[in-house]
Amino acid sequence: MQRFSLKDSYKLYEITPQTDAEIQFLQQFHNEDFDFWRESHFVGEATDIMVAPENQYNFENELTNYGLNYKIIVEDVEGILQQQEIENGMKRSLLGHGSVTFRSYMLLNEQYAYLQHLGQAYPDIVTVSSIGRSHEGRDILLIKISSSGSNTYLSKPAILIDAGIHCREWIAPPVALYTIHQLVENSSNAALYQNVDWYIIPNLNPDGYEYTTTVNRLWRKNRRHTVGAPCVGTDLNRNFGYCWMCGGASSNSCSETYAGPEPFSEPESQAVRNWLLSVGLLLDIKLYLSFHSFGEYILYPWSYQQTLTDNADVLHQLGVRAAEAIEANSDIGSHYEVNSSAIGLYIASGVTSDWMKGSHGVNLSYIFELPNGDAPFWFMIPARQILPVVRETFAGIRAMFEYIEETFVYGTALPPENDFIIRRTLD
Ligand SMILES: [Zn+2]
Repeated sequence: MQRFSLKDSYKLYEITPQTDAEIQFLQQFHNEDFDFWRESHFVGEATDIMVAPENQYNFENELTNYGLNYKIIVEDVEGILQQQEIENGMKRSLLGHGSVTFRSYMLLNEQYAYLQHLGQAYPDIVTVSSIGRSHEGRDILLIKISSSGSNTYLSKPAILIDAGIHCREWIAPPVALYTIHQLVENSSNAALYQNVDWYIIPNLNPDGYEYTTTVNRLWRKNRRHTVGAPCVGTDLNRNFGYCWMCGGASSNSCSETYAGPEPFSEPESQAVRNWLLSVGLLLDIKLYLSFHSFGEYILYPWSYQQTLTDNADVLHQLGVRAAEAIEANSDIGSHYEVNSSAIGLYIASGVTSDWMKGSHGVNLSYIFELPNGDAPFWFMIPARQILPVVRETFAGIRAMFEYIEETFVYGTALPPENDFIIRRTLD
């Protein structure tokens, strides 16, 4: 492998403007010589700019002359990207069609080939369908795993899982795929789909995912260009229609948290909504899990405001139960915080978990922020840590499944012990 000396490396700079004038000043660097990885839209929000070796001297001088402080947050961008490329690519070439691996990141068509393979190999329990198409025309695949096969009329308590809505969060789809793999291909888990049906969308933003594997590893949004807007892409996890644009979302299309021109303006969020509306009366979704990274959080509604739901005690205790199962099975020292989204992380509106709870009455609704492991930079958890993450996370999912079965199948679950933990977080 070729080594780059630090002198010759692309570097990533972080600058946090303290005035509007400084934000404007940074915008002059918007040209082909500079690559904005993240951009300030208000005072105090950081901008990250990747700068080529030949431009670094002048760039640093210009910032200093203007009185702007900067930090070099990645000294060797190519080194990181190349290391990941090597680690992923070498093993990928061994992957046969329809196979799955948790030792490298899979391409979208590999993920889809695996789902189709399961549909063909296990027709009695697996049903693969498309809930709609992405903006660029890719299917959004849903896999159902049930002892009743594809028969929706015999619906039992259901668990709905999605991953990949933020496409740069690469560790999320493997968690969904590992759950599928364990349910379908590990016969010792057959009991998990006898009384409960599983619906899993392993990659909710296929255009974006494809884009992260070909053009920009740090892309987060979908790939649709809102008519008349300056920038491409809507944050799908701000586009759902429960209290849309109530805070923590942007009306600026250039923002990473652009909510879209209206609720459900995007084909990907429409696909989820339309599917749920079409099967909603037939399905009895008891648990919704959406996988993101990173930060090691298990978060429940509300996300749009810092007040708690009527069932926050139950949400919290079940979250803690999952966190304990994950930590007990962790080889990488994961430690989860459990809280409401808005209190534990930040306010965000138009997110899937609020919509599931608020609009569809799915009372047990969660967002997981998975670990970042030894990632050298955001979202770049190395391929060798996929397996420990998916294994430990499946232990958490299983703990939640057990609660669903105890509560809605056997009726043996105990009510929450007390509510002191919840109240404390509101102090
Ligand atoms: Zn996310």
